[in-house]
Amino acid sequence: MNGLVIKNTGSWVIVRAENGKDIPCKVKGNFRLKGLRTTNPVAIGDRITLNVNSDGSAFITAIEPRKNYIIRRASNLSKESHILAANIDRAFLIATLAHPATSTTFIDRFLATAEAYRVPATLVINKTDLLNDSDSRELLDAVTYLYSSIGYPVLHTSTITGEGIEVLNAELKGKISLLAGHSGVGKSSIINTIIPQANTRTAEISDVHDTGMHTTTFSEAYELPESGWIIDTPGIKGFGTIEMNRDEVGHYFPEIFATAENCRYGNCTHTHEPGCAVLKALGNQRIAQSRYNSYLSILDDTNPDKYRKPF
Ligand code: GDP
Ligand code: ZN
Repeated sequence: MNGLVIKNTGSWVIVRAENGKDIPCKVKGNFRLKGLRTTNPVAIGDRITLNVNSDGSAFITAIEPRKNYIIRRASNLSKESHILAANIDRAFLIATLAHPATSTTFIDRFLATAEAYRVPATLVINKTDLLNDSDSRELLDAVTYLYSSIGYPVLHTSTITGEGIEVLNAELKGKISLLAGHSGVGKSSIINTIIPQANTRTAEISDVHDTGMHTTTFSEAYELPESGWIIDTPGIKGFGTIEMNRDEVGHYFPEIFATAENCRYGNCTHTHEPGCAVLKALGNQRIAQSRYNSYLSILDDTNPDKYRKPF
């Protein structure tokens, strides 16, 4: 029988089987990923094959190859990673422009990380009911224009007026989605609006002692009223930071990646090199300063020793 992993509690997972039943399954056997040591062999979002014994107990016999997955280092000292979720169709970053304002650096880091994980991303600007004066509307337009011109869908929502909730619902339908955002942006309000019976405060937290003393927060999937799932990963807020190679950072900013084709040097870091098409586009305002600053801030994290700041 086939199924989808909808809850992960460590040594057990809950699988929504093709017959519509939720079946607790033991994780047996060796499903390790090549080149990656993980604390959990099976993750939420995994499509699996299960065997049900005559006594009703069940175990997983195979995992379908994942189209993507997001991981977090199990702990600072550990070489092992924890797979937070797999097979995500789309990540929705809930952001706000006021009360509180989400920083562009945070938005850009999230989007770059989503690119690195090969998860398509949508920017959701919530609390639009608070953006009434002309300055706020202008800011909303500018942010919407910026991200949609790069290729990211941008939605406007308000859980107060209901703006955009139907559109968001339609986007979520039939998919496995990840909702992320800083606390206070209205993530729980949105989930509760979309799934009235969801209790978003019931995240399961468990200590994992076999890999050292640290706390692992397990993910859970909420079923949408029509079809589809929202994965709640309490531990990651904005994905956390993925470890990127210095020469890869530019790949995760689509507009920088597209422009970099025309840089004189193939290994251009777009910081000081002559003939850099990205710096030229920045000068022409075809690449936004805020995006470029975010690019530099991620680049800065990767290898501060080798990188010369242009300013
Ligand atoms: P979370 O931390 O992201 O889960 O945010 P919550 O859902 O707990 O919301 C944080 C605060 O923002 C609460 O006081 C909500 O009532 C409020 N809030 C959520 N959505 C909206 C919205 O669309 N407009 C306004 N004005 N307030 C909102
Ligand atoms: Zn360049």
